[in-house]
Amino acid sequence: MAKKQFKAESKRLLDLMVNSIYTHHEIFLREIVSNASDACDKLCYKALTDESVGLDRKDFFIELKTDKDARLLTVSDNGIGMDREDLENNLGVIASSGSFQFKQELGDDAKDTDVIGQFGVGFYSAFMVADHITVVTKKYGCDTAYMWQSAGADGYTITECEKDGVGTDVILHLRPDTDAEKFSEYLEGWHIQELIRKYSDYIRFPIRMEVSKTRRKEGSPDDKPEYETYTEVETLNSMVPIWQRPKSKVTKEEYDKFYRDKFNDYADPQRVLRVSAEGAVTYTALLFVPSQQPFNYYSRDFEAGLQLYSSGVLIMDKCADLLPEHFRFVRGVVDSPDLSLNISRELLQHDRQLKVIAANLDKKIRADLAKMMKDEPEEYAKFWKNFGRQIKYGVVSDFGAHKQDLQDLLLFYSSTEKKPVSLADYISRMKEGQEVIYYAAGESVESIDRLPQLEALKDAGTEILYFTEDVDEFAAQTLTAYQEKKFQSALSGDAAPAESKDGETEKLEDGDHKAALDFVKETLGERVKEVRASKILKSHPVCLTAGPGLSFEMEKYFAAVQPEQKLKADRILELNTSHPVFAALEQAVSADPERAKKYAELLYDQALLIAGLPLEDPSGYTDLVCGLLV
Ligand code: ADP
Ligand code: MG
Repeated sequence: MAKKQFKAESKRLLDLMVNSIYTHHEIFLREIVSNASDACDKLCYKALTDESVGLDRKDFFIELKTDKDARLLTVSDNGIGMDREDLENNLGVIASSGSFQFKQELGDDAKDTDVIGQFGVGFYSAFMVADHITVVTKKYGCDTAYMWQSAGADGYTITECEKDGVGTDVILHLRPDTDAEKFSEYLEGWHIQELIRKYSDYIRFPIRMEVSKTRRKEGSPDDKPEYETYTEVETLNSMVPIWQRPKSKVTKEEYDKFYRDKFNDYADPQRVLRVSAEGAVTYTALLFVPSQQPFNYYSRDFEAGLQLYSSGVLIMDKCADLLPEHFRFVRGVVDSPDLSLNISRELLQHDRQLKVIAANLDKKIRADLAKMMKDEPEEYAKFWKNFGRQIKYGVVSDFGAHKQDLQDLLLFYSSTEKKPVSLADYISRMKEGQEVIYYAAGESVESIDRLPQLEALKDAGTEILYFTEDVDEFAAQTLTAYQEKKFQSALSGDAAPAESKDGETEKLEDGDHKAALDFVKETLGERVKEVRASKILKSHPVCLTAGPGLSFEMEKYFAAVQPEQKLKADRILELNTSHPVFAALEQAVSADPERAKKYAELLYDQALLIAGLPLEDPSGYTDLVCGLLV
């Protein structure tokens, strides 16, 4: 029998296909199974209008068989089948899709079917793993069965043959194993089960296979149990995805189990969110917020993204484009029947539909988190512990592009509430006359709490937000204000309590102590930007505040991440003029300038220590202290 040649362009395409379009060879099984599912769908659709088909949706199935000795993997279906013409047109011409045509002919009715095929190349992916493919098929309403055979690019033959019943067997003769690839794995039951669960779990028809199992031999003694192996036909796929089932029919336990199994977490998710949309883009999404931070979350290894399905078939395992960076901790699946996939289904076109879905999900997740914050503050606090940092990064990233969207989700530790609070709550508690949101950045809540610079504000009962993470001050700087209240560092010299600002009673004019202040500035030289009488100190003699711009915490951050830049905050030395130490200083300035110089050095060093900044000359400092002791 004459061998027919694939069309010339098809030959080249086949070569391309097998060698480059698909990156994962294992997806051939998904393609062949999807075709079988399409074939069932087509006959099922026919049965709706043609009673003589005599089949019901539940009568259709897909069956997998292996023959290890002969290296054969067979995928059978009892779907529509193909006649000679179909074989010529659909398998003889690469990139011709009978399924696409089927949907075209159905027009609007196509939405009643779940037909997957559309490119007419999926079938050929089987040549990545098989050197020889036989298709035995009998079309519904046709008496003759046909056998199509091909060993790849050099063509195919079609002959008549025998076959019981309507449907198609696709028989793959697997390639010999190489060092790089063990094709014989596709003959192993466990591997096939794994692949079906991964890619074809939600095919709407049962995918069955005979699997071997072990059980205890009946009657074997308890102390010496004997086991035997036996085979049983099992359905490998779960068919209806949990996200397609009516919301009211799925229990929390089912969602939890689905989440744990699918995303390999041993803990239940903290939050489950279902989203479905119809219109411009139709899709369903099932999203989860993990209840704990993945151990590698903030490392490079963590891969974010949602699983993307198109009509129940897995297209992409981690589609990062579906999630904004600030919600990259969210896990879940998105299923959309109308994504424009390109021929390999692996390389999604970065198209409008995907962007529409992503924007929508961003909004839904945000709304859900806001709801949790409002209704379940304790749960939200837990969430914040896990992923708050990510949200703060989100405020800062992309030059603040998302700050408006994210600012309501922020929490910071409050000096008065002794727990993380939202900015809205802070503002609602602000006292008459308070114009700004006070914050103080430092290593930890405890260390900030001890800072002398905060004394005056605290005594006045002013609430201060404690910034303990690197990103906090950057976030505040990006926001600049919340509900029109500006952020103001309580560690900067301007951060006097509200009442004392306009109070005439305060007469801390530098002029009164000008001589001593100038003396200290002269002694310290360029090391300090300014030396001034402090408005913020109460019981402590000295502290350091930063000028506008870079803060000390930012300086420390930059020293750690880009030390070569030597970015420094402006140092302003604040002296408490009502402290006895200041009186001693003033006295020394006039009576013993040499001693006064030592005082100036000492006070500066102490201010550095309090600010958590490194001393410029630690041994000089100890010499000074010791000098004063004797
Ligand atoms: P697609 O599925 O994108 O149409 P394929 O290369 O996977 O492209 O399949 C090409 C065509 O071959 C299908 O559209 C269908 O008409 C036909 N076909 C493939 N497998 C089967 C099958 N098991 N039963 C019936 N027809 C099939
Ligand atoms: Mg296909």
